[in-house]
Amino acid sequence: MGLLTIGTFARAARLSPKALRLYDELGLLRPAAVDGESGYRFYDPTQVERARLIAWLRRLGMPLARIRQVCDLDPKAAAEQVADYWAQVMADTAVREQLATFLVDYLSGRGSAVEDAETMIGIRYAARSELGLVRTSNDDVAYAGARLLAVADGGGPGGNLASVAAVDALKPLETKAIPAGDLLGALADAVGQADLAIQDITGSAPSSEAITTLTAMLWSGSQLALVHIGDTRAYLLRDGEIFQITHDHTYVQSLVDQGRLSEEEAVSHPQRALLVRALTGMGQSQPDLSLHTALAGDRYLLCSDGLSAVVAAEPLRGVLSGTGDPEQVLDELVRLAYDAGAPDNIACVVADVVTL
Ligand code: MG
Repeated sequence: MGLLTIGTFARAARLSPKALRLYDELGLLRPAAVDGESGYRFYDPTQVERARLIAWLRRLGMPLARIRQVCDLDPKAAAEQVADYWAQVMADTAVREQLATFLVDYLSGRGSAVEDAETMIGIRYAARSELGLVRTSNDDVAYAGARLLAVADGGGPGGNLASVAAVDALKPLETKAIPAGDLLGALADAVGQADLAIQDITGSAPSSEAITTLTAMLWSGSQLALVHIGDTRAYLLRDGEIFQITHDHTYVQSLVDQGRLSEEEAVSHPQRALLVRALTGMGQSQPDLSLHTALAGDRYLLCSDGLSAVVAAEPLRGVLSGTGDPEQVLDELVRLAYDAGAPDNIACVVADVVTL
């Protein structure tokens, strides 16, 4: 087939000739030929696909320089670029959403907005749950939203249902109006709902013993409420130092607390995964609840034992100290777990505290 006039090509690509002239000027799509005298542009029919792709990427809001790169990649690499771009857009939007919420409260004269104005912070976040190399099912859940972060590690038959139910029971907190000063109460109530949801699972088959750990954070301004039960963990990286801000509810940790076992011995103890507390659906779970103040520059990690049991503190600190965004940090953390054989499911959430 010969070359097409710009009008014919525009119809084939379902674009306007004006858009095609713009793409030419921007260097995104050169015509196959230009008539020396008239200046008319001619296109090859095989260029339709690229023209359509450019139009779609522009509608997505992707910057021109990045469109140029994506168009020159093979489809698989291009797909990854589009996914990365969209994850970044979502992260930026979440931060803007927090700013909008703050401004609505501030301009409505609600809450302690004037104090908050000096510490106006938001979070950038990413979550991931991986099967690992040994397990045949994934009982871990990782969730991150603008106000809520959570990881859960299910156990027993139906453990996968328990971890999903627990995190699902917390999700309404993302949009619920929570009175100032009641962050902990709201989170505690939601954990009560999570326990009821697990009761529903085990209620239908009382011998199933579906249980789950849960470590979650609920944010409001610079305040964060932390709930924790089991051996999932929360870490804080502040000023280059790493702090574990949850206490494992394991048999082995209780031996360490009593001075009957050293930290080093605990790491390789055969019963290190034995929990003394978890969400069991029995209504008597006793989670730890605490309130914290976040600072711009803080980085939080929530993770399951699929990460913390196989990656030592120093490599963990090294990765968390890196300058990458939360998605990149997750890539590196998961890689460390896989390098260590990934014997268990791996759930991680990373959140960076940023100034709005
Ligand atoms: Mg686990």
